[in-house]
Amino acid sequence: MAHATPKASEQHWQQTLDQIHTDGLFKRERQLTTPQRIEIETDQGQSVLNFCANNYLGLADHPALIASAKEALDEYGFGLASVRFICGTQTPHRKLEHTIARFCHQEDSILYAACFDANGGLFEPLLGAEDAIISDQLNHASIIDGIRLCKAERHRYPNADMNALEDALKKTQHARTRMIATDGVFSMDGTIAPLDEITQLAERYDALVMVDDCHATGFLGPTGKGSGEHHGVMDKIDIVTSTLGKAMGGGMGGFTAASAQVVELLRQRSRPYLFSNSLTPSLVSATQTAFELVTESDELRQRLADNTLFFRQAMKAAGFEIKGEEHPIVPVMLYDAELAQTMAQALLDEGIYVIGFFYPVVPQGQARIRTQISAAHTRAHLEQAVAAFTRVGQRLGVV
Ligand SMILES: *Cc1c(COP(=O)(O)O)cnc(C)c1O
Repeated sequence: MAHATPKASEQHWQQTLDQIHTDGLFKRERQLTTPQRIEIETDQGQSVLNFCANNYLGLADHPALIASAKEALDEYGFGLASVRFICGTQTPHRKLEHTIARFCHQEDSILYAACFDANGGLFEPLLGAEDAIISDQLNHASIIDGIRLCKAERHRYPNADMNALEDALKKTQHARTRMIATDGVFSMDGTIAPLDEITQLAERYDALVMVDDCHATGFLGPTGKGSGEHHGVMDKIDIVTSTLGKAMGGGMGGFTAASAQVVELLRQRSRPYLFSNSLTPSLVSATQTAFELVTESDELRQRLADNTLFFRQAMKAAGFEIKGEEHPIVPVMLYDAELAQTMAQALLDEGIYVIGFFYPVVPQGQARIRTQISAAHTRAHLEQAVAAFTRVGQRLGVV
């Protein structure tokens, strides 16, 4: 049997890397020398204001979470060295699953190493060849991969296009189960899925609704319970997946919250759960504290909402075109990829850390700088960012 010689593989991989460079898609990682927070420093010695973390509630370096993680290290040790069903379940794991279930208005929940795994392991155990999945075109990569691993028929509708969704529901009447799968918030646009209409269509056509609420859990909706609560339809959503790696402390981990039956089936059959290590107890306990903070007090959520409103209005007043309505993801539309890169670099030089997004992460000709607001931003931070955007924007002829 002929094996590719290392030389051929190296050639092939180098070509791929060169192509990534040529396409202008090569990603470099900046190293932070500080904890994740608003005022960060990089190994270049630069001190900047962070406007690109998913640290919506500012919990990533919150003293209560750090204290809780330290206590758990002492009480439960560092690692579990086991999957959940062998000897990897401790009291804090089940406690957090119950907390998350209550938070999501579901009967139970199941933890994963990441929401990527929650989505990757969701569809295959629940749906087979007799079933159909109807998926929003802008859904996260992990939903797309999860759907690929499953034998159900696949249908896709243009982003938030309710006529196309209805067509797909009509076309799939033959299926045993239809599941609509959508992100609760589309992360490139900062727009919220129309779950009021989606749940109505689901009722009319007897379909299930799955929502990935990674950019909503903890801060969207009147009590932070996510995009379903935002639209007043929490109890019409069948399955919620989300991350522990964004607003809820930003550690890592993910979950699926659903009926007790669905969660039980996932515990028996979901491969990323069955064949992957248990979450470390310090992470579980700190995340438990994050859910308690968010449930007990409105303060951080309110500050985030105030900050978001202030920043969106100030940027619009400065003449920028902003996408979305009320989400702390605030995309500043520039349309030109090179301009987005130049502007992000110029802002960095001004001490404002933001990232330009362009094709293929967003459609061709839709380049933008995506800013993300946090409860930990002060009014002064926000004003500093708007002033820098204005200076740079004027220099580059954007405003
Ligand atoms: C971030 C994100 C994920 C992945 O979450 P991890 O816990 O980091 O794996 C999945 N879906 C959506 C919509 C996300 O934004």
